[in-house]
This record gives sequence, structure tokens and C-alpha cells, in this order.
Amino acid sequence: MSTNLKEILQPGAHVVVVGLGKSGVSAVRFLLKLGVKISVSEGGRQENLEGDLVRWLKEKRVFVETGGHTSELLTSADCILVSPGVPLGIAALAAARQKGIPVVGELALAKDFLKGKVVAVTGTNGKSTVTTLIGDLLTGSGKKAFVGGNIGIPLAEYLAGPQESEVVVLEVSSFQLDSAGDFRPQVGVLLNITPDHLNRYASYGAYVESKMSLFKNQQPGDVAVVNGDDSVIAEWLGKAAEQKSPWPVRSGIRQYSSGDRIGMAACLCGTKVRIATADEPDKNAEEYELAGTSLAQAPNTENAMAAILAVRAMGCSQEDIQKSLAGFTPLPHRLALVAEVDGVSYYDDSKATNVGAVFSALAGMKQPVVLIAGGRDKGGGYEMLRPLVQEKVRAMVLIGEAREAMAEAFAKSTRIAFAEEMDGAVRLARTLAEKGDAVLLSPACASFDMFRSYSHRGEMFVQAVSGLGRQEAR
Ligand code: ADP
Repeated sequence: MSTNLKEILQPGAHVVVVGLGKSGVSAVRFLLKLGVKISVSEGGRQENLEGDLVRWLKEKRVFVETGGHTSELLTSADCILVSPGVPLGIAALAAARQKGIPVVGELALAKDFLKGKVVAVTGTNGKSTVTTLIGDLLTGSGKKAFVGGNIGIPLAEYLAGPQESEVVVLEVSSFQLDSAGDFRPQVGVLLNITPDHLNRYASYGAYVESKMSLFKNQQPGDVAVVNGDDSVIAEWLGKAAEQKSPWPVRSGIRQYSSGDRIGMAACLCGTKVRIATADEPDKNAEEYELAGTSLAQAPNTENAMAAILAVRAMGCSQEDIQKSLAGFTPLPHRLALVAEVDGVSYYDDSKATNVGAVFSALAGMKQPVVLIAGGRDKGGGYEMLRPLVQEKVRAMVLIGEAREAMAEAFAKSTRIAFAEEMDGAVRLARTLAEKGDAVLLSPACASFDMFRSYSHRGEMFVQAVSGLGRQEAR
């Protein structure tokens, strides 16, 4: 059933924002504009919140509950705006839902409050890269685009402002999709699905459904850019076809569709992305050269295909797209070459927090690899990596909470060593690597057991590698 949030969020209505992270604070800023009565409920303790934030909330007469979410507060709301970090199953939210109170995330606000067209990007891996690239391609084509969502600026922050962009490009996580209400992207992009966040979903199937829900409110004329090469997505599409749902099905290609019709398909021919209509692939094909750009290596070749299809659907021209592809700068901590020391290349892929990302990193490596991995386990298992580890990984240096489980998973596939912290891991990797090898930090795990974030983990790696360089110079 569709919920009209504009009708609910009238002056005087009581709205509870659950979770006071970045998107929660933006939600408060958005709600202040509407003149509603605001409360926030934060699971963490008050002393962990920034003093300035607490003062600002008091000044704005926002009621603040910390240290947990009470049913008393949540069930007194007319609407609950929940941050993506908060599990939707917690008791207080369940109690509110039972009372018929709408529980929504910031994506649900888009239908009633967002001006402009929406391009939304999801997938287990590559979201930030593709979202940023789409933003660059749109801007390079003279279109004013806002880029944010799960990266950078939250959607609610944009909604609180003057909304001056004609296109809004959003990175969208599965957690955000779970509370997205009637969210409808005019262009939806789904890159891939591999196991992730299984510590929060009841099953892998539930995670897959969450990702596929990106398209559930699309209407004829909207566009779906879907990776038909991804086995999980292809299987889902196959089932949808059996059930006569209006999904385009053709495996082995990337495709986008208008309504129930297959539109364009992209494939990689050597170093070029080739785009043609799916029905007549040999007619009027367009080609985009990736050689000489930072997108020439897998998995960025795939990311480029998805982004090109998305912006072609938004009316960008081939010439403008080609120009902007050349200027794309990869994001840090995604397979970034840090240094070469003693004939060994060191790569920082700290953003690889799940097995799918590590799989793509290893698959793209041409030389033997010493892999630094481990951290906080995300519950997806490591089996998917075994064949590639056996083939490409000379040795593995394991850190963090997951190291025992990973050692067990790969004991028969490669040589295993343990390290206590990043500096030691890099020094150990150096002794295990041979000239011509790569040392790759691609952890397959979250960072929070040892680091503040994936970027902190990557920075520590870069620091440790530069330490090796200094030793070298002596
Ligand atoms: P996300 O925002 O989905 O986490 P990023 O662009 O930040 O995606 O990349 C996260 C990790 O996934 C990095 O390790 C990167 O090298 C890897 N990656 C990027 N694109 C893809 C892709 N299309 N398929 C698999 N892995 C990818």
C-alpha cells in the first residue's frame, strides 16, 4: 500500500528519527524545514555523541533518547524515519509497525519530496565507483547532477536544501532498499550480487530479494540496467520470467529495458565497450574506448559498461561520454597501486569488505599474490574464493577476528601466516613475496575490529608500505 508522506509529515506531526549517524542528522535537518515535532532515538550512549551535535539538537528543541530505542517513544510517533544502520527487526520498531505507524528510510522520502530524475545504483560491489562515474559522465555532458546517498551526502541532506540538480544519482545499499517504501528510480542499476551482510539478513535469499527490490516500483518507460552475466541475477530473472513477471531475460549480456522490452545491451570487445540494441546487436553499434583510461582493468570495465548504459538512457551523447571516461579518477582504497618495493607491487583494496570484491581483485591479478586479509567476519563464508586462492595466492597473511575461520577455510589452498597488526602484516607479506609478485590488501571482512573504517585500514596499509620503502632507501 502506498503511503503519502507529504500528508503525514505536516506541521505538528511527531516524527522519531531512529539512529543519529550522518543520515539521521540529515533527516533532522530535513524535518526541521517541515515544522514537525522531532525526537531522535540513538542506540549509542550520549557521551559518545559530539557535544556540538547535542547542543544543536537542544537548541532546535529536538527530544533526544540515547542508549537504546524505547517502545514508549517510538509508538508515540506519527512516522518513524529509520537510518540504514539500524536493523528493522528491533522490538521497538516492531511495536510501532504493529500500531500501524509508518517506518521508512530516507529513500522513501523521494516520492513525495524529491524534484528531478533519479538514477539509483546498487549491487554488492562497485556501487561507489559506478555512482561517482555516472555523476562525472552526466556533469561532463552539461547536466547538473547531485551525487550522494550511501556515499558522501545523504539524500535527506539534499532534500533539506534548494534541490537545484536535474538528475539525482544515488548509491543505494540493501539496508536502504529495505525501508525504501515507494522509491522509484527512473534509471535503476544493479551491478552484481554475491554474499554480504549475512550477519544481518535471515538468509542469502532475503539479501537477493532486497537487491532486486530496486526495480519493484518502476513503471513502463523507466530503465533497468541489469547485469545479466551475474549468475544470481540471471537465475532470479529466469524465475521471474517463468512467473510471467515483466522482466527482460537474456543471459550473458548487460541490458537495459523500457518496461518489458529489452533495449540496449553492452559487451566488452577487447578494450572497447560495445553498445547495440539487444535484438539487432550488429546494427548501429556504438563503441567506447577504455584503453588509456583508469577503467581499462576488470572490474572497472564492467562498471564502465553499467555507467555508460545508464547515462545513455539519460540522454548523454556518445562524444561527451567518451571524453569524460578518459578523465575518471578511481576512488581510493579500491585496488589502488600504492608502491613498488624491491620488485613487488603493493595494492590497497581495503574497500573489499566481502568475498565478491576479493574474487574480482584476484581474478584481475596477473602475477602471484601475497594476500593480506581478515577482519570482522560478515557471515557469508569464504568457499567462493577457494579455487582462485589455490590458483593465484602464494601465501596469505591473516589479521583480525576472522583469521582462525579463514585459516581453516584456506588451509589446504595456500600457505597461511598470522599477524597482529597492519605493520607486521605488511612486513611479513614482504618476506613471503618474491620478485614480480603483488602484495594485495583485500580483506574480505569489515574493518571495525581493528580500525575505525575501511579507509583507516587502507591508510595504515599505505603507511606500512611506505615504511618498507624507507627501509629500502637506507
Ligand atoms: P561499493 O560501494 O559497492 O562498496 P566500491 O566501488 O566502493 O563499491 O568498491 C568496493 C570493492 O569492490 C573494491 O574492492 C573494488 O575493487 C571492488 N569492485 C568494484 N567494482 C566491482 C565490480 N563490478 N565487481 C566486483 N568487485 C568490484
